[in-house]
Amino acid sequence: DALIKKVKKMGDVIFQMDLETALRYSLKREIGGSKEISGEKLEALKKYISVLAKYFPFGRNGKAFLNQIDNYVNSSPTVYGSEFSKLVDSAENENSLVFSSPKHWLGCKGSSGQYRGFPCGMWKLFHYLTVNVADYEQGLRGDNPRLALEAMHGYIKHFFGCADCSKHFQEMAERRKLQNVSSFDDSILWLWMAHNEVNKRLSGDLSEDPEFPKIQFPSQDNCPACHKPDGSWNEPEVLKYLKHMYSSINIRYLGSD
Ligand code: FAD
Repeated sequence: DALIKKVKKMGDVIFQMDLETALRYSLKREIGGSKEISGEKLEALKKYISVLAKYFPFGRNGKAFLNQIDNYVNSSPTVYGSEFSKLVDSAENENSLVFSSPKHWLGCKGSSGQYRGFPCGMWKLFHYLTVNVADYEQGLRGDNPRLALEAMHGYIKHFFGCADCSKHFQEMAERRKLQNVSSFDDSILWLWMAHNEVNKRLSGDLSEDPEFPKIQFPSQDNCPACHKPDGSWNEPEVLKYLKHMYSSINIRYLGSD
């Protein structure tokens, strides 16, 4: 439809609406849908919420909400999904002014209902986090370059509803040695490479939206400098491209174009 055409024409941009819709689904359905959360699963939840509280692109009310759930998950050895869910419900109340956009997909909208949506939103959220953690923590001389990747790994392992995706991702984290990532820039590139590996595996799969074929990202058209003439990647250019695409100043808000 016309909206998909318009969004495709805009190229590699991210929308606040996709990040917020992914966050809402993740908090309400995946975390809120868990019965009891304790032990290693709770540690994973704490890391995820802590990174979100610091780096999710929210205004004042949104930040206050994420700080509230950060305090909540740190307040007891067992968290109950049903209680967590109630905190999310009160944030979704229009008067709380936590979310700035309706709960719909925009850049992650599929050409029909079975395509894209939540997994697309989660990739974008995690790329956004690697880039913005790098941006801030590098300046602050942060000592854990794997901060965003560890938050993602724990989330995907314990909460991500697609069991196959979770298994594949954990195997890939071992094989590609996530634990050896030693700089913030490398964490951005690690996730880019990991995502391209998934894109390659899923290219031509039944789950692929015909309007959004899986490519080795970014495309030659969108970033010619990222591609060397011999077909290999120019990684410094890819890094520059990702830092721009997923920077907070590149986020598009509803009605901003
Ligand atoms: P997505 O792959 O979701 O990408 C979303 C957007 O990210 C793209 O539109 C593009 O703008 C950008 N992008 C694409 N590639 C890159 C890159 N390399 N670096 C930076 N940005 C990029 N599905 C399965 O069927 N099997 C699996 O094993 C599987 N594993 C998954 C593991 C994880 C951690 C996640 C989050 C999802 C997984 N999925 C899996 C879902 C699958 O990867 C897609 O998210 C889904 O098919 C929707 O695809 P999409 O066309 O919206 O693009």
